[in-house]
Amino acid sequence: MSQGMGGFGGLKPLQIIGDGAQPDGEQPLAAPVGSPVTTPSEEGRTEAKVIIVGSGPAGLTAAIYAARANLEPIVLGGYEAGGQLMITSEVENFPGFPEGIQGPELMDRMRAQAARFGALVLDVDVERVDFSRRAFRLWAGGVEYSAQAVIVATGASAMWLGLENETRLRGRGVSACATCDGFFFRDRKVIVVGGGDTALEEALFLTKYASEVVIVHRRDQLRGSRIMQDRALAHPKIRFVWNSQVIDVLGDDHVTGVRLRDTVTGEERDEPTDGLFVAIGHRPNTDVFRDWLEVDSKGYLVVHGGTGTRVEGVFVAGDVHDHRYRQAVTAAGDGCRAAIDAERWLAEHGLAERATATAW
Ligand code: NDP
Repeated sequence: MSQGMGGFGGLKPLQIIGDGAQPDGEQPLAAPVGSPVTTPSEEGRTEAKVIIVGSGPAGLTAAIYAARANLEPIVLGGYEAGGQLMITSEVENFPGFPEGIQGPELMDRMRAQAARFGALVLDVDVERVDFSRRAFRLWAGGVEYSAQAVIVATGASAMWLGLENETRLRGRGVSACATCDGFFFRDRKVIVVGGGDTALEEALFLTKYASEVVIVHRRDQLRGSRIMQDRALAHPKIRFVWNSQVIDVLGDDHVTGVRLRDTVTGEERDEPTDGLFVAIGHRPNTDVFRDWLEVDSKGYLVVHGGTGTRVEGVFVAGDVHDHRYRQAVTAAGDGCRAAIDAERWLAEHGLAERATATAW
């Protein structure tokens, strides 16, 4: 799910997120990320009817449903537990939070909800899997786990330019999600980097708020589809800077500009801006599954019928297969679907009791 890489409430400097801090001094609902939500007796558990890989909204929603269906899932959540929402500040479009909610707090709440019903959530990265036969086997943090069914919800990661100041100013003017953070740039100037459909879509979305949107592209031709190109090129608020690379992000506690290098002449100059949206693509986190599951040309998992894969008993949820919607709420919905599919599949194969995941 692609959530904001930072929100910018009025461009105020925001707390650096991902440190487990709670807004307004509230106590965390669950253990901060980095400390697994376990009880001592559970810590040694390595077998489950369902193992969920990933702990973003898709994985944790799957865990809530699977746990409520008495499947006692283990969630192998990854070292970057919580997914992209952990580096998002304010989330204003997740239903049920009319005042908005901080991304990490939303993830802590989902995690606490999953733990409440008996999910074991561990912050370990899956290094290897063997889906050749059941029970499926997964290795994480040097430990072997096994499960009758697996839900893959490892998400996708926004690609970044790789600049030091880009990382430092994330959440302080640097973002990778216009849908999440565009609102904070009302009547301000923003720069979008990239020349594909994502960049064009982000730029067009940002015109709703920003006074000016500048698309910086490293070539003189766009990669995006014709229709998106036409829309962007014709838009009165969008200006293009061709043949240019962003080589630095400027600003002390928030973005004030970028340094550009002309890819033809090598000339450098500074372009002032209030925000920088990096839209150079996403990378699905599918590396460990590629030997077993089908991926498309961009590396996203291919889904067969509902949430299934070509391996019976292995299900998929969230951004790891969805590069179209990429929202917290769609990922959560997908996690629900995958858990219900997994539970029904287990029940059909006599591996779990009758379906209960849908009970309220
Ligand atoms: P793409 O790979 O299509 O485009 C990435 C863009 O970023 C390219 O223009 C590329 O430049 C540029 N880029 C990559 N790396 C860097 C870098 N390090 N520095 C500067 N620029 C860089 O990714 P998208 O996310 O745009 O699209 C992915 C897929 O999703 C596509 O198939 C697209 O059509 C689809 N999509 C469809 C949408 C829709 O239908 N509404 C919306 C969004 C995406 P260069 O061109 O020089 O390689």
